[in-house]
Parts: sequence; structure tokens; C-alpha cells
Amino acid sequence: AIWNLGSINADMVYALPHLPTPGETLAALDLQQFLGGKGANMSVAAARAGSHVCHIGAVGPDGKWAVDRLMEYGVDTRYIDQIDTPTGHAIIAVDRQGENQIILFPGANRELTNDQLGLAVSQAGSGDILVLQNETNMQGEAAKMGRELGLRVCYAAAPFDAEAVQAVLPFLDLLFLNEVEAQQLEHATGKPATELGVSDVIITLGAKGARHFSMGTGEILDIPALPVTAVDTTGAGDTFTGYVLSGLDRGLPMPQAMMLATRAAALMVTRPGTADVIPDLKETQDAQF
Ligand code: ADP
Repeated sequence: AIWNLGSINADMVYALPHLPTPGETLAALDLQQFLGGKGANMSVAAARAGSHVCHIGAVGPDGKWAVDRLMEYGVDTRYIDQIDTPTGHAIIAVDRQGENQIILFPGANRELTNDQLGLAVSQAGSGDILVLQNETNMQGEAAKMGRELGLRVCYAAAPFDAEAVQAVLPFLDLLFLNEVEAQQLEHATGKPATELGVSDVIITLGAKGARHFSMGTGEILDIPALPVTAVDTTGAGDTFTGYVLSGLDRGLPMPQAMMLATRAAALMVTRPGTADVIPDLKETQDAQF
């Protein structure tokens, strides 16, 4: 199984004639609400890929729809608490040219408790995967707990924060970075990501594909991206990560897990939207590129 300590957001997309200027009151032309948050996206991807995914997180009194949506996509929501703080959300203003401005409110995502975490993780079996990203609190505690319990501890260093990633680094088995995050981490530590003591590192390179570094064998594996016309790359990275983790969870060797993830991510960039449009395993396997 996969245990995901992760964010759950409402992405509120307001269509505007132009982006608001200071002091301006502006009526939106349209509002659409989507399930979002890197954590939720990864949970949906891994569940759609065929894994049992237990999401550990929190929503506010306004968050029942998000939990229902996760459940609909096959995620185990037993370990999502409902608390008094509002659900995390992103207020996304988009103008007619597609330019955007985003206000992010972490809300309930930063109010997870040690008790909640302990209760969930104590149900994990050794060999299970624990995954974290940088949109919740409790990351250091979770990584340490996961390592002590013999879980495979994985981390996506996004949104990048040097302190957050350094706090979990000693406990990690697998680290996911995109190209920019890899540079930021090297800048912060003074060393390449492959010299930080984490046994497996995957760096995604957008349309150039992804690269896996195995410190155990010293091998470098390159998986090229598939040739598709990109219309919206949001959620591609989260889908890729969720699919890799599901592959590993289901016993696939790393190259096969990454190839499947590459197919799922390629489908994602061809369609607008995030969590709501993540392909399932059959669609991912059957797709023609
Ligand atoms: P992030 O969204 O986290 O920055 P990347 O942009 O590196 O992540 O993308 C993650 C993966 O998604 C890539 O490794 C690749 O497999 C796939 N991908 C991203 N952009 C494209 C693209 N334009 N065409 C095909 N595949 C893509």
C-alpha cells in the first residue's frame, strides 16, 4: 500500500476580463472549482494506477466534497480528518490571454497532528511506501517515523523549500525533483542531488523525459518523454510521481514503473485540468503515441 501525507486543495478558477489592479473591484465572468493540491493529485494518480492509497490529510468544514471526490477516484480516505480550519485552497485568477495570478491558502493542510499521523502510519506494513510533498506540516516527523517503521520513504521536493527538504533528507529512500528543484537543491546544499545520501533520485526534465540515478548500482537510466502536443502541463509531475510509486508498490522494476509513468504524464499534458483528468491504468497502457 501507499501512504500519502499530502495536501488537499480546492482550486477555484475565476475567469476575469483582466487581472485585478491594486484597489480594483472586479466581477468574474465564470468560476470553476476543481480538486487540487499536489498531495491529492498524487493520491489520485497512484489509486487510478491500481494501488491501495491511504491519504493522510485534513480538510475543513467546507471540505466534504473534496473527500468524496478522492473516494470516487479510489483513494482510501479513512485517515483524512475534518477540522475547524478551512480547507486549503488556491484562488486562481485567469485573464483572457490565459495569464494567471494565484493566492494559495494552506489552511487545514498545515494543521495535521502528530497523533493523526502516528495512528495512520502505525497501520502500515513494512515495505509499504510513504510519500510526502511540501504542502503539509509534519513532514520531518512523518519521514522519521516512516524510516523507523521500515517504510520506503519518498519525497517530492515541491513547492521547493531548502529547509523543508533538508529536514527530511536523512530519512529518504527516493527523492523526486524537477530540473529547477534539482538546481535549487544543489545551490542550497553545495552538492548535486545524487551526493546527498539518498539511494534513489529521479529528476524529471519536462519534454526531455526523466532520469533515474541509483546510488546502489551507480546506474543512470534515461526515460525519454513521449511525443505529444502539450496544452496544459499542470499535474504532469504529480501524475508521473503517483504512477512511479504505484508501479513500485505493485512490484514493477524501476524502468517499467517509469515508462508507465511517462505514458500517464504524456496523456496529462494533452488535456486541461489536473486531478479530475488523470488517466487510469488501462487507458495509460492502451494509449497510442
Ligand atoms: P513538473 O510538472 O513537476 O515540473 P516535469 O515538467 O518535469 O514535472 O514533467 C514530469 C514528466 O511529465 C516528464 O518527466 C515527462 O515524462 C512528462 N512531460 C512533461 N512535459 C511533457 C511534454 N511537453 N511532453 C511529453 N511529456 C511531458
